[in-house]
Amino acid sequence: MTFNGYFSDGNELADKEVFDAIRSELTRQQDQIELIASENFASKEVIAALGCVMTNKYAEGYPSRRYYSGCSCVDVAENIAIERVCKLFNCKYANVQPHSGAQANLSVFYALMSPGDTFLGMGLDMGGHLTHGATPTISGKWFKSISYGINEDGLIDYDNVQKLAEEHNPKLILAGASSYSRKIDFKRFREIADSVGAYLFVDIAHYAGLVVAGLYPSPMEHAHVVSSTTHKTLRGPRGGIILTNDEVLAKKINSAVFPGVQGGPQMHSIAAKAVAFGEALRPEFKEYAKKVLENSIAMAKRLKENGLDIVSGKTECHMSIVDLTKLSVTGKIASLELEEAGITCNKNAIPFDKLPPTKTSGIRIGSAAMSTRNFGVSEFQKIADMIYTVLSNYGKSGYDDLRQRVRGEALELCRAYPLYK
Ligand SMILES: *Cc1c(COP(=O)(O)O)cnc(C)c1O
Repeated sequence: MTFNGYFSDGNELADKEVFDAIRSELTRQQDQIELIASENFASKEVIAALGCVMTNKYAEGYPSRRYYSGCSCVDVAENIAIERVCKLFNCKYANVQPHSGAQANLSVFYALMSPGDTFLGMGLDMGGHLTHGATPTISGKWFKSISYGINEDGLIDYDNVQKLAEEHNPKLILAGASSYSRKIDFKRFREIADSVGAYLFVDIAHYAGLVVAGLYPSPMEHAHVVSSTTHKTLRGPRGGIILTNDEVLAKKINSAVFPGVQGGPQMHSIAAKAVAFGEALRPEFKEYAKKVLENSIAMAKRLKENGLDIVSGKTECHMSIVDLTKLSVTGKIASLELEEAGITCNKNAIPFDKLPPTKTSGIRIGSAAMSTRNFGVSEFQKIADMIYTVLSNYGKSGYDDLRQRVRGEALELCRAYPLYK
C-alpha cells in the first residue's frame, strides 16, 4: 500500500472544509519550531495505520476473548502491540487499550483503589499531572489525594514523601511528572511505598522514549504498575498503555480498562501503537533518543549561558523548565510572544511561583519533536538564542522588528529540515 494521506497533493478529502483545516495544520507543524515537551511527530507509517479500516471494528474484550465475532485480524494487531511493548519495557504484561494517558491512569486507580481511598501524587503546581490528584479531576474528587512536591532546589523532596506516607497511610503512591527535568529515584519511591504497605504506581508518560533507550531510569523493576502515553517521547499515536510484572494485577488492570473504564478499544490506534513500538525497537530509535537528550541539554545550557535560570539547575531528560523571573515577562506572555516568533512552547509554573497558574513565571521547553526533524545541537543552541532574544527584548524599542526577524530565522531553520516531505 502506498499512502500519501494528507501529505501531498492529489490525495485529498472530498470534504473541503475539514481537509483545509488538516492541510493548514500540516503547514503549521512544518513551519513552526515545536518545543512543547509533550509533543512529537509520529512517522507516516504510524499515521497510515491510524487512518485504517480497523476503526470500523468492535472488539470489546481482549485477543481470543472478544465479545464480538470477526476479530481474528484485529487480534493479530493487538497481540503484536502487546508483544512489542513488553519487549521494549522488559515486562511481562501490557494493556495497550487505553485511549489516552488519562484513561490509563483512571483505569489503574479503578483497579487498585476504591472511592475515598488516599493516595500520594506530585502536586500539579510542583510538576505533577492533572490526573495525579488535582481537584478538577476524578483523581482529586473521588479519592483523597495528598500532594507532595519539590524542595527549594527544585528536586523531589523524598523525605517529605516518606513523612506524608507515614502520616496519611496511602493505598497508593504515584510517581511521575509532566514538568520535572531530573531523574526520579524510583527505588526510593518503592522503599517508601513498602514502608507503609502502599502500591507504587509510576507514570512515565513523558519519559517513556528515553526509558526505552536506557537514557532515563526504568521504573519497571520497582513499580507495581507503570502507565505511559504513547505519543510523547515514545513518538507513537495518541494513546496510553499500562504495564506490570504481576499476573494478579495484570488481570485486575485488564478488567479495569474494559469494562471498567472503556468500551470498545480503538483498534486502528492499537495497530498504530504496534507500528510505533516496532519503530522504537529498532537501533535508530536509540540514536534518536540520544539526540533528544543531547539537544535538550545543549538548549538548557545555552539558555543558562544567556543568563536565564533552569529550574533545578539542569535537565536530565527531554525537557527543561525555564525560570523567567529575571526578565520582565510572565510565562503566559512568553509563550504568546514566542508563538508570534514561530516557536511553540507552554507557560509553566516554577517552584513556589508567586504568579497564578494562568500567568506563571516560567515556560516548559522540550527537544523531542524537533529532534525528530533532525535538528542537532547547533540548531538547539540557536533556538535558545532566539528565545533569549525575544524574551529579553520584550517591550523594548524595536521589539516588533526583532520578533519578526526571529520569525524569519525560525522559518529558515524549519525549511532546512523538512517534515513529512
Ligand atoms: C501527558 C500526561 C498524561 C496524560 O496523557 P493524555 O494522553 O493527555 O491523557 C498523564 N500523565 C502524565 C505524567 C502526562 O505528562
